[in-house]
Amino acid sequence: MAFESLTERLQGAMKKLRRKGKITEADVKEMMREIRLALLEADVNFKVVKDFTKRVSDRAVGEEVLETLTSAQQIVKIVDEELTATLGGEAVPLNKSPKIPTIVMMSGLQGAGKTTFVGKLAGQLKKNENARPLLIAGDVYRPAAIEQLKVIGEQLDIPVFEMGTEVSPVEIVRQGLELAAQQKNDYVFIDTAGRLHIDDVLMNELKEIKALADPDEILLVVDAMTGQDAVNVAESFNEQLDITGVVVTKLDGDTRGGAALSIRAVTGKPIKFAGTGEKLTDLEVFHPDRMSSRILGMGDLLTLIEKAQADFDEQKAEELAMKMKENSFDFNDFIEQLDQVMGMGPIEDLLKMIPGMSEVPGLDQFKVDPKDVARKRAIVMSMTPAERENPDLLNPSRRRRIAAGSGNSVVEVNRMIKQFNESKKMMQQMTNGNMPAGMDQMFG
Ligand code: GDP
Repeated sequence: MAFESLTERLQGAMKKLRRKGKITEADVKEMMREIRLALLEADVNFKVVKDFTKRVSDRAVGEEVLETLTSAQQIVKIVDEELTATLGGEAVPLNKSPKIPTIVMMSGLQGAGKTTFVGKLAGQLKKNENARPLLIAGDVYRPAAIEQLKVIGEQLDIPVFEMGTEVSPVEIVRQGLELAAQQKNDYVFIDTAGRLHIDDVLMNELKEIKALADPDEILLVVDAMTGQDAVNVAESFNEQLDITGVVVTKLDGDTRGGAALSIRAVTGKPIKFAGTGEKLTDLEVFHPDRMSSRILGMGDLLTLIEKAQADFDEQKAEELAMKMKENSFDFNDFIEQLDQVMGMGPIEDLLKMIPGMSEVPGLDQFKVDPKDVARKRAIVMSMTPAERENPDLLNPSRRRRIAAGSGNSVVEVNRMIKQFNESKKMMQQMTNGNMPAGMDQMFG
């Protein structure tokens, strides 16, 4: 997960302040020194760091803060607000054309994640707005690129326009746009070629495509893992193409976060989306305030809720809620639920979005082991349909049979049944509006 060590260090710096009753100017200076170091270590552009720490210091040493008693909290608030401002302030939505189609042109180096992003966003628009996008395969240099886009198109049931690798990208785009006009597609995504490095041939081709297509949106895709290189790439692309927005991919990786934190301030262009994984659903709208909150370890409940809504099948969720109320939650539901949770990505990343959770020690041990899920599934699959629906049937001899059938020990079968019963009890308490024992303390 991105920002991990940055979060830890920033929290450390602010925690020291919280322990003090009255905060002096020297305390603020000390905290700012630590914040500056933490940001530089996270590979944030030095000018951005300088500007950020100055803004925070100027506000924090103002009399208003130092005179009152809650100053530590107020300083955290200032850090949060200024971090949000550095990240761009408000979320900026995708530009849309008043008449169809809205044309989105992609740009970025090879491997940054352009093709994947096209699939993610087109898929999301199709799902959320019933949109009918057309994807144009304009990367004729990387032989597998067209195939990759076609595979994504098939997965999402979205048409892909391609003319092989022998026709010039500009011609492909021209004909693709004609087709989109005929078919009345509401969005057109132009996937373009990337190179390993910026070169004039690439830039000239992109400029020609831009001149021809007159896009509503020129998105630059950068790989967060490349740190300051991503920032330099963004600067060059912006100078040459006058991009309209940035997509930062691979924020799920082990990144220090410097790229995401610097790009807006260096280029002046908004980060509009963040890629958070390889799956086609791993896309987030970039909300500077929520990102700041996450970086400071204060959680991000809104994104968590949205993620849950997007990933969970609403009808299934309603059915589950009904079953919990009626106390008829069975092993079939248990497995279904495991699958849904697995589909949302690593549990420890989700937990960190809950305010206060990032400071809970040992969260990293909270990993869901896919092997463990496979074992549970095998156990459930070895039950008869009647047993799955009625867990009370599971007497010792049945448990022995299930253990043998699933290649597990009886101890493991017993443990899993116990877990099932506990989660059933906990869910019932929650559906009845009570926090399960212990949870209230966690949030208190
Ligand atoms: P392109 O050359 O710019 O079109 O890049 P691709 O779309 O082919 O992506 C390059 C690689 O990065 C592929 O293996 C993708 O699965 C992977 N990738 C793209 N976006 C993300 C992301 O947000 N997170 C992770 N972990 N991998 C990503």
